[in-house]
Amino acid sequence: MTETRLAWLLVCAYGLIALLPLLLATLQGLPPRPFLDDLASGLALVGFSMLLLEFLLSGRFKGLSALVGMDRVMQFHQLMAWILVALLVIHPFLYYLPTGATAGPMQGPATEGGDIDFLPSLTGWIAWFLLLLLVFTAAVRDDLGIRYETWRASHGIGAVLIALLGLHHTLEAGHYSGDPLLATVWSLAVLIAIASLIHVHLLIPLGQRRHPYRVGAVEKEADRTWTLMLEPDREAGHPGTPFPYLAGQFVWLRFQRALFRITEHPFSLSSAPSEGLQLRVTIKEAGDFTNGIRDILIGSRVYLDGPYGNFTLQPGDIRPLVLIGGGVGMAPLMALLRDVVARGVSRHMRVIQGNNTEQEILYREELADSEAQGRAQVHQVLAEPPAGWQGESGFPDGALLTRCISESERDNGVFYVCGPPAMIDAVEDTLLNRFGIAPERVICERFRYTLGNRRGSTGRLLKACLLTAGALLLAMVLFALR
Ligand SMILES: Cc1cc2nc3c(=O)[nH]c(=O)nc-3n(C[C@H](O)[C@H](O)[C@H](O)COP(=O)(O)OP(=O)(O)OC[C@H]3O[C@@H](n4cnc5c(N)ncnc54)[C@H](O)[C@@H]3O)c2cc1C
Repeated sequence: MTETRLAWLLVCAYGLIALLPLLLATLQGLPPRPFLDDLASGLALVGFSMLLLEFLLSGRFKGLSALVGMDRVMQFHQLMAWILVALLVIHPFLYYLPTGATAGPMQGPATEGGDIDFLPSLTGWIAWFLLLLLVFTAAVRDDLGIRYETWRASHGIGAVLIALLGLHHTLEAGHYSGDPLLATVWSLAVLIAIASLIHVHLLIPLGQRRHPYRVGAVEKEADRTWTLMLEPDREAGHPGTPFPYLAGQFVWLRFQRALFRITEHPFSLSSAPSEGLQLRVTIKEAGDFTNGIRDILIGSRVYLDGPYGNFTLQPGDIRPLVLIGGGVGMAPLMALLRDVVARGVSRHMRVIQGNNTEQEILYREELADSEAQGRAQVHQVLAEPPAGWQGESGFPDGALLTRCISESERDNGVFYVCGPPAMIDAVEDTLLNRFGIAPERVICERFRYTLGNRRGSTGRLLKACLLTAGALLLAMVLFALR
C-alpha cells in the first residue's frame, strides 16, 4: 500500500473514532430536541472525542511514526486542534441562540427542568478557558520566549486538566453522556489519553534505564555543529545488543539529569545501522540545550528513545537517489548515504547540500571521498560563497535544481529532503509542482513541527483535515436533524 493510501486510511480511522460517541448517542433513541440544542450536543460529543485523540497523536507511537512520519502526525495534531477548538468554543453559545434555547448555556439537557447545576457548569467553563489558553500558547510559543521544556510540560498538564474537567462536565451536564455505555466509553477514553502521557513520561524513561548509553566522543563537524559518538554503557547494564534502527530515523536523546525531568530532544541518527553498536548524532547549536553540547563530558550518561520516523529507504529499492539537504538537515541524509555505501548497493546517488557559508558544510571530506570513488555526485551550494568558490552559489531553488537534477532522476528518482522549513517548502514546491514528480517519490523530514507551504505535503494534509472536518460537521448536522 502506498504511503498516501495508508495516510488516508489512518485519517478515516481517526474520523470513525471521533464519531463513535455521536453514534452511541444516536443509538440511545432519545426523543429529538430542537436543532440547535442537538447541534450543540453534537459539537461537544465530536469535539471532546477529538480532544482525547490529540493525546494519542502526540503519544509517540513508533509504529505510527514509521508509517507516516512523526512530523506529519504532529502537523495533523496541530491542524485538528484548531478544528476541535472551533467546535468546543461554539458549543456553549448555541444554547444562547433563541431557537435552540431550551436549557440555557452550559446546563445541558440534564437540567431541562430549569435548575442550573453549578459544578458541571463551572468545570465546563474552566475547561473551555483552559483550552483557549492552551491553543493560544501553543500557537505563539516562539514569541512568548518561554523555554520549550517549560511550554511542553505546561501543555501536557493543561491537556490533562482539560480532559478531566471536560469529563466531569460531559458526564454531569451532557444530555447523552449520562447513558451508562457512553459514560463508560468517555471514562475509558480519558484513561487511555492519560495513559499515553504516562507512557511517554514514565514508562519510556523507565524502559530506557535498561539500555544506557554513554558519550564516547564529541567531534567538531562544522561551524557550531558537533557529532556525538554514543556507545552502549555495558558497565551500567546495557546488554550489548545493537540499537535496532533504519538509516534516516531519529531518536529522542535524554541526558541524565533527573529521571523524569523533561530534558530530551529529538535528533536524527547520522550513523548507518551497519556501523554496529556505536551510534552517531550530529547536533547544531540552536538554543539553550544544544548550545551546551560542545561542553558535554565524555562518559556522560545518555538514554535513547526510538527509533522513530519514516525518513528511510525502501527495502530493495535501487532507483536513483537524490538527497537534498540544508544545514544540519544533512544529518539523516548522510545516514542514508552511509547505509547505501556500507551495504554495497549499486545505486546512483546525487547529493545537493545547501549552506550559508563554507564553514557550515557538514561531512565535507566524506562526501568528497564518496564523489571521488564514484559513489555519489555532490553539489555544494553556498548562499555566501567565498572568493574563488568552485561550487554552486545561491540556494537550492528551482533554477539550481533544474540545472543539477537529470531527466532520468526526474522520471524515476526518489528524493529525500531535509533542512530549514523554508528550504523544504521551496524544494518540495519545485519537485512536485514544477517537475511534476509524484508525492510518493518526495520524502521530507521536518525538524520543526510547524506547518509548511500549502503547495506541498502540508497542502495535502490540510486537504485531509478539511475533508475530515467537513465529514464530521455533516454527521453532526444529520444528528441534530434526525
Ligand atoms: C525529527 C527531528 C529530528 C531532528 N534532528 C536533528 C539533528 O539531527 N540535528 C540537530 O541539530 N537538530 C535536530 N533536530 C532539531 C533539534 O531537536 C532542536 O534543534 C533542539 O531540540 C533544540 O533544542 P534547544 O533547547 O537547543 O533549543 P530551543 O530554543 O529550546 O528549541 C528550539 C526549537 O527546537 C524545537 N525543540 C526543542 N526541544 C524540542 C523537543 N524536546 N522536541 C521537539 N522539538 C523541540 C522547538 O521547535 C523549539 O522551538 C531535530 C528535530 C526533529 C523534530
